[in-house]
Amino acid sequence: MQLVCKKCQSKVDPSQVPPWCRAKAARSALKGSLAQAMVALKKGGLPMAEAKELSHHLARKAGACQRCGGTAEGAYGECEKCGALTIQWSPSRVKAVIAMVLGDTNRP
Ligand SMILES: [Zn+2]
Ligand SMILES: [Zn+2]
Repeated sequence: MQLVCKKCQSKVDPSQVPPWCRAKAARSALKGSLAQAMVALKKGGLPMAEAKELSHHLARKAGACQRCGGTAEGAYGECEKCGALTIQWSPSRVKAVIAMVLGDTNRP
């Protein structure tokens, strides 16, 4: 399965990425670390160039375009405003993990 970002014409193939790696990369991107997301994708078996392209298209915020912050829905969402591809892997699971992490740091 190959996806093309309408905004930057990047081609990415997320079907090669194993599930554990998706969760890790998605979490890293939501925390704001694209470098970490890229490392996770590389460990998942993607070549450097593809890991880089793909990490740049991961959502930084649930339900929002990675580029302009517009609305992007679904696992492979296309922004309503700018047309950029935004990849969101299992957002509900990712949200649960973030809530857990935040809950931990809030504990006295
Ligand atoms: Zn793009
Ligand atoms: Zn956008």
